Amino acid sequence: MSTEPSAPLTAQSIFNLDGLFSNPVFAGGIGLAGLGAAAAFGRKAVIGGAGLLRRQMLVNVEIGKRDPSYGWVLQWLAQPRDNSGFLARRVTRLRNLAVTTNTRAITPGHGAGTGEASTHADFRVQPGYGRHIIRHRPGVYIAVHREKASSTNTSTGEPHETLTLTLLWAHREVLGEVFTEAHALAHRFHEGKTVVYSAKRMEWVPLGKPRLKRPLGSVILDEGVKERIVGDVKEFLAAQQWYTDRGVPYRRGYLLYGPPGTGKTSFIQALAGELDYSVAMINLSEVGITDDLLAHLLTQLPEKSILLLEDVDAAFANRRQRDSDGYSGPTVTFSGLLNALDGLAAGEDRIAFLTTNHIDRLDPALIRPGRVDMMVRIGEATRFQAAEMWDRYYGDIDKDKSGRARFLNRLDELELFGQNKEAPRYTSTAAIQGLFQFNKDDVEGAIKMAEGLIPRTFEP
Ligand code: ADP
Repeated sequence: MSTEPSAPLTAQSIFNLDGLFSNPVFAGGIGLAGLGAAAAFGRKAVIGGAGLLRRQMLVNVEIGKRDPSYGWVLQWLAQPRDNSGFLARRVTRLRNLAVTTNTRAITPGHGAGTGEASTHADFRVQPGYGRHIIRHRPGVYIAVHREKASSTNTSTGEPHETLTLTLLWAHREVLGEVFTEAHALAHRFHEGKTVVYSAKRMEWVPLGKPRLKRPLGSVILDEGVKERIVGDVKEFLAAQQWYTDRGVPYRRGYLLYGPPGTGKTSFIQALAGELDYSVAMINLSEVGITDDLLAHLLTQLPEKSILLLEDVDAAFANRRQRDSDGYSGPTVTFSGLLNALDGLAAGEDRIAFLTTNHIDRLDPALIRPGRVDMMVRIGEATRFQAAEMWDRYYGDIDKDKSGRARFLNRLDELELFGQNKEAPRYTSTAAIQGLFQFNKDDVEGAIKMAEGLIPRTFEP
């Protein structure tokens, strides 16, 4: 039996690759799979490379909405830029903008001119949500990503927001410039202005846009009163070390009381302007301000702000009401107010002004160092105030002060400074201001209309 020498075993003979590859179906499949694998590998490599590049060559800064710099940087981003150069023009235009509108009522006699109330609106444009690229300066670009998250802030109910700035690692020092410029811009925007915050849900939000600072000189209190309070506040601000050394909470409380329209709120705003502080204001008579909310807000006060608690007597009225009928709605209680004041954040200076038109309704427990350190009555207009206000309005035209003398005499005749001991009557500084506004540059008109300062009594 003859046997043919067996062919040596080779891989080819086992798999017959030629045969396989000559099979068009198989070859096509392998080819596609190979190409697919190569593409997937390539894609992975590109993604990995891009990730590596990003990690190695780029720098990201994420700013949360609650950080003060969030608003500053947004405002900075919306600044007009020098977009000269083709590339700069193509990439640095913010295409997706968001607008914030602040409206303010203009009351008749305050510039509207028509005699009808109208509204003034300010529009501020900011980068909208999404991605933007801006040219900071030639050759330096910043990618901006403003994002709204699906989760919400439990205290405000608003969605979380972040702003991410991305730069080349080589340009990382620019970040310092961005934040410094943004802060300086915000400072310029607020320069000469006073920001008034009010409580919205559980957060402090600016009430309209910053107001022009009110000069202290424009608020006329009785002789020496303004100087006494301003002097005390300044002394307090200069005495941080004293408080620290003794472990005493660094806070001071003032209670201004007296009838409405005597300049209490105006004075506090002017004082804030003088100190370059903002005002954080809560009206305690508002329904919805609960003990917990008040305590929370007082731990979150904006930095460098004067706390203004208006109508503090409301807390005492609630106590009386609760004693008699149990529950009286979600408002602040007396103990809630005391706790909130006692818990005023330590560390930073805290200046609190409390106001009331009803001193008789307050509890002596409120008048304790750290809660209320100084009590000042801001009362009805005195002769001194009437004279000072006259000078502010007519000083330029009534140079020999004869008009002032006649005006004051007229107020004496009308017994508006409490001269009649049996039935004393007074007028308010707000009423005098109203009279002078009406008779701008008209000395005789103001004297003639002085009778209008007699407080009106309304018969039921
Ligand atoms: P209050 O807080 O005591 O009720 P406001 O400060 O709100 O009074 O004053 C009401 C208005 O009257 C404001 O327009 C304010 O300019 C004016 N006014 C009242 N008192 C004075 C004052 N002593 N000096 C200057 N303006 C005053």
